[in-house]
Amino acid sequence: MKRVLLLLPTTGYRNADFLAAVHKLGIEVAAAANYCHQLAPSWGFAPIMALQFDRPREAAATVLREIGCGPDAVLAVDDSGVELAALLSERLGLPGNPAHAVSRVRDKLAFRRLLLQAGLPCPEFHHLPSDADPLSLLPRIEFPVVVKARRLSASRGVIRADDADALVRAVNWVRAIQARADRDAQELGLVIEGFIPGREYALEGILERGTLTTLALFDKPDPLDGPYFEETLYVTPSRLPDEAQRRIRDEVARVCREAGLRHGPVHAELRLNRRGVWILEVAARSIGGLCARALTHVLGMSLEELILRQAIGEPFAIAGDGSAAGVMMIPTPRRGIYHGSEGLAAAQSLPGISAVSITAEQGQIVAPPPDGASYLGFIFARGASPDDAEQALRAAHKLLRFDIRPEYPAMVAAR
Ligand code: ADP
Repeated sequence: MKRVLLLLPTTGYRNADFLAAVHKLGIEVAAAANYCHQLAPSWGFAPIMALQFDRPREAAATVLREIGCGPDAVLAVDDSGVELAALLSERLGLPGNPAHAVSRVRDKLAFRRLLLQAGLPCPEFHHLPSDADPLSLLPRIEFPVVVKARRLSASRGVIRADDADALVRAVNWVRAIQARADRDAQELGLVIEGFIPGREYALEGILERGTLTTLALFDKPDPLDGPYFEETLYVTPSRLPDEAQRRIRDEVARVCREAGLRHGPVHAELRLNRRGVWILEVAARSIGGLCARALTHVLGMSLEELILRQAIGEPFAIAGDGSAAGVMMIPTPRRGIYHGSEGLAAAQSLPGISAVSITAEQGQIVAPPPDGASYLGFIFARGASPDDAEQALRAAHKLLRFDIRPEYPAMVAAR
C-alpha cells in the first residue's frame, strides 16, 4: 500500500477533498498539521505531528527525525505547506520540485527578479524595505503602481496606487496586513511594481519531468483594475482564440523552466495585452479555495485525485465530458460579522448550477481584500458553453443575500 505524507493547514478549504481522494485511491495517509494536534478537528485520525510550515528547515528536521518508514510522496494541501513539502521530497529522494525553486516563486520579489533575469515580460519593480519611506521611490516610479506583500495569497495585501498620496496610504496598509499575516514581515519589506493593464487568465497545469500539461485555462471575465483585486469568476474553457491560448501555455511553460519547476501541480495567473503575456505568478500548487471542484467533470476525476495519482506514480488519463465549467468565489461586500445567508435553495435550483457552498461560519469576521483572506463561499456551474456557465453563475449570485453586521465597537478599537 502506498503511503502519502499530507501537510494539512489549520484553516484549509481543501483538507476534506484531499482526504476523500486519499480514501478513494486506498492510499495510507500520514498527516502533519500546522497547529497543535490536541486542537485538531476530528478527521477520524490524528495528525502525527504538529509543525510550523513557515519554518520549513526546522519542520523538515522534525519530520525526518520522527517519521518511521518513509512515505512514497509528500504533498502540501495548500500554499502554506509547499516549501516544506518540496524540502521533504528533496531530503527523502522523492519526485518533486527543487526546494529553492518553490521558495523563489513563492516570494513576489524573488519571482520578479527571476523574470527580469530571464528576459521575460515583467513590469518595473522595486523593493521597499520595512524602514524605508515610500516617497523616496517617487523619482523612480511611474504611476499607476501596485503595492504588494511578498508572500501572501488570495490578493491579500495587494493595492493599486495612482499617485503619491495613495502610495503612502497603500504602503501603510499593506505593511500592517503583512505584519499580521507573516512573521517575517519586518525582514521582507514590500514590492512596488508597475500596473499591468489587460484582461486576466489563469492556467491550471501539471508538470511531469519538466513538461507542462495544461489541465484548464480559465477566463476571468470581470475586469480587475483595482484598487483592490477581489477574485470572482473563473470560466473554462477559455474563449480566447487558439493562438492566444497557445502563447499563454508556452509562456507559462517557459517560466516553469526558468524557475526550475519540474514536477507536480502548477497554478499560474497572468495578464494579456497588446504587448504580450505578463505572468503575475506561477505557483507550485493547484488552484486555491474550493475552485478545484469546478474541474471534476473537465478532468473526469477530482483534481486532488489526479495530483495524488501523479504523486504516487499511478497513471492518470484526463477524460472530461467536454462541458464548460465555472466557479464564482463569492465576493465579500463589506467587512463585518457574518450572520447568515438567504436564497441558497433558489440559487442551487437554477439551471446550470451544480452546487453552492457557503463556507463562511456564523460569527466569523469577514472582509474583502486587501484585508481578508477567505471567501463567503463558492458557486459552481456547468454548461454547454463557457457563456452558459458564466451566465448561470451571475444569475445564482443575484439570488444570494448575506447578513453581515458591523463589528462590536471594542473590536474595531482594538484593530
Ligand atoms: P496573490 O498571490 O495574492 O493572488 P498576485 O500577485 O497574483 O497576488 O496579485 C493579486 C491580483 O492583483 C492579481 O490577480 C491581479 O488582478 C492584481 N495584480 C497584481 N499585480 C498586478 C500588476 N502588476 N498589475 C496589474 N494587476 C496586478
